[in-house]
Amino acid sequence: MSRARILVVLAIAAAVIAFFAAGGQRYVSLENVKAQQAAIAAWHQSNPVAAGAAFFAAYVAVTGLSLPGAALMTLVGGAVFGLLWGTLIISFAASIGATVAFLASRFVLRDWVQSRFAPQLQGVNRGFEKEGGFYLFTLRLIPAVPFFAINLAMGLTPIRTWTFYWVSQLGMLAGTIVYVNAGTELAKIDSLQGILSWQLLGAFLLLGLFPLVAKKGVDAIRARRVYARWQRPAKFDRNLVVIGAGSAGLVSAFIAAAVKARVTLVEKHKMGGDCLNTGCVPSKALIKSARLLSQIRNAGKYGIRHATAEVDFAEVMERVQRVVRAVEPHDSVERYASLGVECLQGEAKIVSPWEVEVRSGAGGTRRLTTRAIVLAAGAEPFVPPIPGIERMNCLTSESLWAIRALPRRLLVLGGGPIGSELAQAFARLGSKVTQVEMLPRLLPREDPEVSEMLRKRFEAEGIDVLVSHRAKEFRLEGSRKILLAEHAGRELRLEFDELLCAVGRVARTKGYGLEELGIPISRSRTVETNEYLQTIYPNIYACGDVAGPFQFTHTASHQAWYAAVNALFAPFRKFRADYSVIPWATFTDPEVARVGLNETEARQQNVSHEVSVYGMEELDRAIADGTAQGMVKVLTAPRSDRILGATIVGEQAGELIVEFIAAMKHGIGLKKVLATIHIYPTLAEANKYAAGVWRKAHAPETLLRTVERFHAWMRG
Ligand SMILES: Cc1cc2nc3c(=O)[nH]c(=O)nc-3n(C[C@H](O)[C@H](O)[C@H](O)COP(=O)(O)OP(=O)(O)OC[C@H]3O[C@@H](n4cnc5c(N)ncnc54)[C@H](O)[C@@H]3O)c2cc1C
Repeated sequence: MSRARILVVLAIAAAVIAFFAAGGQRYVSLENVKAQQAAIAAWHQSNPVAAGAAFFAAYVAVTGLSLPGAALMTLVGGAVFGLLWGTLIISFAASIGATVAFLASRFVLRDWVQSRFAPQLQGVNRGFEKEGGFYLFTLRLIPAVPFFAINLAMGLTPIRTWTFYWVSQLGMLAGTIVYVNAGTELAKIDSLQGILSWQLLGAFLLLGLFPLVAKKGVDAIRARRVYARWQRPAKFDRNLVVIGAGSAGLVSAFIAAAVKARVTLVEKHKMGGDCLNTGCVPSKALIKSARLLSQIRNAGKYGIRHATAEVDFAEVMERVQRVVRAVEPHDSVERYASLGVECLQGEAKIVSPWEVEVRSGAGGTRRLTTRAIVLAAGAEPFVPPIPGIERMNCLTSESLWAIRALPRRLLVLGGGPIGSELAQAFARLGSKVTQVEMLPRLLPREDPEVSEMLRKRFEAEGIDVLVSHRAKEFRLEGSRKILLAEHAGRELRLEFDELLCAVGRVARTKGYGLEELGIPISRSRTVETNEYLQTIYPNIYACGDVAGPFQFTHTASHQAWYAAVNALFAPFRKFRADYSVIPWATFTDPEVARVGLNETEARQQNVSHEVSVYGMEELDRAIADGTAQGMVKVLTAPRSDRILGATIVGEQAGELIVEFIAAMKHGIGLKKVLATIHIYPTLAEANKYAAGVWRKAHAPETLLRTVERFHAWMRG
């Protein structure tokens, strides 16, 4: 804890101790107040301003320090200052005092609580960021919830101070008036409990629930408003229509069919979407060929002489297509039809919140009516508007798979996962690759040392990695293709034969009815959804790349479960999409895999953490395999074995990370990872050794010293 925090805690503790040591609690009784009433009133008569100011200050101090007695002081305020002035003074003093307590709790405890319970608090934080005012107002109106507890608890949430102040003042006003008014008749009051009758308590409770009920009402009115201009069909042919048969659409349709709903899946291009046809599957097949080639080239290191290989690039790309065809049946019309999904080939367009028009390739159009719609239209490569790029015949992850000639000099624009995977694969296959990235490092979402490991490997393999280079202009000089790039104020000319643009992918949001329905697009250019994956039309959902915020196959199918279940069972049952444990991997060599927080994010989000790193160069199996580079890096909560995140760099990192994904998902700490038998010699042992690094840093030193003395004594 910082020195400033310790000082605040000590100051508060000293004030509270002084209060009780001076017998402050004796004054906090109705009898005492009644006995002192005449004296207080006389003081007020003789010096109203000083009495008012002193009362105000005392009230702020009592509430700010969370001392007992605020309710009694409110009665006194009513008795001495009357209803109007009493209410005015107490309303402001109580709100200021509450804010002081709120700020103290925030200053002393919030960082610790937020870092200690980071994953659990994600949902609460999101809720408070959006609707903290609502929750606070509700709590303030319910007198059964102690005033000081609300102040202290709210300090731990992300609610803004100003919001806390004004909502508190508004929320407490009704209760303040009741107490101040009771105080004007102080002599008649026998007990504090008597002030609030059961009827009054009930009324407050209803008032407290009012904001929540009102919110539901506002949501319903909003929904009615968006539907107002549309004619709702009397009945529907289907329960669900899913637009797009990629990872998100396939899983949505599968779930719907599994729970016996009538579901139609519409795909305009190829079943399986990006992942099967132009994304994960072909890229991993290409990477396999490139990796094999790299292993053959390195055969000498393993004592194998004269191992050579000649690349038949066209055949490599044909194999990629064979792999796609081999996986294709998993995502095929036949398979999904057999599961109970109606599959339609054609372009879908939403024409009303309950109607989807499907235009088939042959030109025919069908109109389907449906209770709910899932948008799973995916994303497409983004080609930045750099002058001259339109004349470069630029390759993207969509068009790349059709080439059959290996580019001699390939310029890869983009240092993210797709750009890096493909840059390395093409370099290994024989292209002279230049990789240009505007940011200062490759894989900018990962920790800097991860980017550095990758950059070193790429450069060792002959890739010209140009980070902090901004592509300014493309030029065609005769048949020569040139990129003018800017770096540290200098301009460079980079000549190349083919350009591969991999600077990111944007959600497909145009041309299928979103504009006509007025479905908003977020700042990150994805379809805007709430935590249930609903768009502004509660019966239209979105999942996968079109909804973001992730762009992975496994997150698309994860979201698809929520979208399909919510679409079919709302309003009876709805689930918030759970993003607490999201993993991913970049399939470069070495692979980079991650789950949860990395060090950079933990620092940015102010999450207290400890770091345990195990270097792969120590690992027996990696040494035997000749792949002893990389690391396992685990973030834990301070003085705890609770895992906040893990990054693995090395051979099979995408497989190794699963142990940490399962541990985080099911609340297993590093002690249990360490206590689990890992097979020797495997790469997976690296996880156990990383847990060992943590254990060593938390060894019970005092106990070990005692045990050492015990052994010495035993030796005699
Ligand atoms: C090169 C590359 C490598 C990748 N590697 C990985 C990886 O290793 N691991 C990983 O997890 N992710 C990877 N991804 C990302 C992954 O492919 C996507 O996240 C995933 O495909 C998203 O699935 P989706 O269902 O949201 O969208 P998509 O797969 O894009 O599916 C959307 C479908 O909707 C169809 N569609 C769109 N509009 C309409 C319409 N109006 N009517 C009918 N149909 C329509 C499209 O034709 C498309 O088939 C990679 C991506 C690329 C490009």
